[in-house]
Amino acid sequence: MTIPTEPIGSIPRPLQLIEAVANGNSEDPDLGPLYEQAIRDTIERFEATGSPVITDGEQRKYHNFWTYSVHALPNTAPDGFKIPFAAGHTRRMPRLTNGPFRYKRYADGYLDVAQRYAHVPIKQAVISPSALSLMYPPEPIPGYSREQFIDDLLCEHETEVRRCLAKGAHKVQIDFTEGRLAMKIDPSGALLNSFIDLNNLALSRFSADDRRRIGVHTCPGGDLDSTHSADVDYAELLPSLFELKVGNFYIALAGEKDQVRALEIIRKHMKPDQTIFVGVIATIDPHVESAEEVRDRVLQAARYIPAGRLGTTDDCGFSPFSDDTTTSRDTAFAKIRARVQGTALAEKVLGGS
Ligand SMILES: [Zn+2]
Repeated sequence: MTIPTEPIGSIPRPLQLIEAVANGNSEDPDLGPLYEQAIRDTIERFEATGSPVITDGEQRKYHNFWTYSVHALPNTAPDGFKIPFAAGHTRRMPRLTNGPFRYKRYADGYLDVAQRYAHVPIKQAVISPSALSLMYPPEPIPGYSREQFIDDLLCEHETEVRRCLAKGAHKVQIDFTEGRLAMKIDPSGALLNSFIDLNNLALSRFSADDRRRIGVHTCPGGDLDSTHSADVDYAELLPSLFELKVGNFYIALAGEKDQVRALEIIRKHMKPDQTIFVGVIATIDPHVESAEEVRDRVLQAARYIPAGRLGTTDDCGFSPFSDDTTTSRDTAFAKIRARVQGTALAEKVLGGS
């Protein structure tokens, strides 16, 4: 009996790197050695937790998981879509000012570096087409229609995912934090449905084999120990989420107020060919879970999700925004170690029964 366990993506950056970037340009070649050192150290410590699948901790995803691919594009302005967090702050994405839309960088570049240091499989997170679709302004851009933009966006996303798959990413995880947020912005569900449709347009370009290595991550957001949509009921999100044409779902659960209710919704709406990785680590809670706490969370989930289709993960990345210092690297790795050990304990219990 094996329960796969995978992280989501980000690990808090070393403080020295955060300071250096704050004082300069994140693309400054002089920062190269600092990034390299951060990636090497992250991978070493990640492997030391025993996690069978790791990431590069998104050490080079400046400034965050959402805009890394478009950061510093010349045809953007800083006054784009705002993500409002419960703590009162906002994070803002760039606005597209003219076409054509092209990524500035693809995430497989991060894989190239991580593979130089890693001894175990690496997964790669990429941002969803729906998140980047929010870059197109409400007023049409003269000479570059929304339809042209969507065509270009889908092509760029497809290219990025294919490059990550071709380079051997264990999984390619599409970050879809805006799914739950969409229900908060538009409780009618129309925005969420448009996001699902857009992402499925991209996903339908992949084979069934590819889709077994592709997954989607949902969470209520995690920045400065705060969320953007934890108050949105999973009953509003999960039935639509499971319409996405991917084989793997990474669902924040440990931080949910009512985990049993969430598991009941998952059981009711999951489809036969989907593997569900439930969050067993509450990433924005400073308490470090014990292996036994994690084991009990896995055993609870196993009452709702059949063996062979259950996996474990962290609720979210530990610092999706690169300057977030509310969680230390030590805490993040201690929590990951608990995920790995607790999942193994649960495997023993389930295997013996
Ligand atoms: Zn997340």
